Amino acid sequence: MKGVQIFHIYSYLESLIIAKGSFLSITISQILISPLTWIFFVFGTVLGSFFNVCIYRIPREIFWQSNRSICPHCGTQIPSWLNIPILSFLALRGKTRCCGEKIPRYYPWVELFSGLLVAYLYWRFPFFEKALLPLLKTDTNTLIRFTHALIFTSLLLICSVIDMQHMIIPDVISLPMVLLTPLVVLIHPDLTWQSALWGVLLGGGGVYAIAWLYLAVRGREGIGMGDAKLLAAIGGWLGCQALIPTLLFGSISGSCIGIGLMIGKRRMNFQQEIPFGPFLALGAALYLIAPIHWLEVLAKIHGLFFRSPAMP
Ligand SMILES: [Zn+2]
Repeated sequence: MKGVQIFHIYSYLESLIIAKGSFLSITISQILISPLTWIFFVFGTVLGSFFNVCIYRIPREIFWQSNRSICPHCGTQIPSWLNIPILSFLALRGKTRCCGEKIPRYYPWVELFSGLLVAYLYWRFPFFEKALLPLLKTDTNTLIRFTHALIFTSLLLICSVIDMQHMIIPDVISLPMVLLTPLVVLIHPDLTWQSALWGVLLGGGGVYAIAWLYLAVRGREGIGMGDAKLLAAIGGWLGCQALIPTLLFGSISGSCIGIGLMIGKRRMNFQQEIPFGPFLALGAALYLIAPIHWLEVLAKIHGLFFRSPAMP
C-alpha cells in the first residue's frame, strides 16, 4: 500500500518535469542520463564561481579592481587550478591554501546551486529542437526565453546573497535592470510594452507604498528602498502580471522562514531584521521558471491524498 503511494508520488513528480508547452516530453531519468544536463551543470558551476566574485566585490565596491582572483585575506594570487568550482573547496577542506584562512561557506553552495539552476533552465526552455541530435537546429524564441531566464535568475541570485550578508540590494544591479527593460521588451517574444511599463511603475510604486505604510504603522523602516527598485526590475523583466504572485509567494515564504528562525532561536523577536530581497527573488524566479501552474499542483496534490471513494 505504502509502496503504491510512493510510486504515485514519484510518477506525479515525473509528470511535473515534463517540459510544459514544449514539444519535448521527457522524464527525470532521461534528463539525468542526457549529456546536455551535465554540460549545462558544469557551465552553471563556472558561472557560480563568477557570481561569488560579484557577491564578494560588489558590496565592497572593488569590482573593477583586479581581474585576477586574489585571496581576500593575504592578497596572494590564486592559481587557476585552485579555482575549480565546488571541487577546489572540497579538496582544500574549506581553507585557503596560501594562509589557511576559512573560505566562506556560501562559495560551494552558490556554485552548486548555479549548476543545478542552469541545468534545470535548459530543460525548462529546451532550445535544441531534437534532444538526441543537439546543435542541429535551435529554436530561436526558446533560446531567447532561456537566455532571459538565465540572466534574470543570475542577477537575482547575486542580489539575494548580497542582501543576506549586508542587508542591501546593490543599486548597480537593480537600476541597470530597470533601465534595460526596453531592450528586454524588444527582444523577448512574450513581453509587451504595456505590461513591462506597468510592471516597473506598479512594482516600484507598490513596494514604496507598502514601505510607507509599514513606516507609518510600526514607526520604523521595514522594507528598504532597495526592495522597491528590485520589484520595479522584476515588473519590467516579467511584466506586471508577475507582481502579485511574486509578492504573495515572497511574503508567504518570508513569514515562514521568519517564524522558523524565531522558533529555532527560542525567542520572540519581532525586531529582528530579515532581508526581504531573497524572498522577492524566489517568488519572481518561481513565477518565471516553475514548470507548472500552481493551482494545478494544489489540485493534483489534493487529488493524490484525498481520492474520492467513488473513483476507480
Ligand atoms: Zn591567503
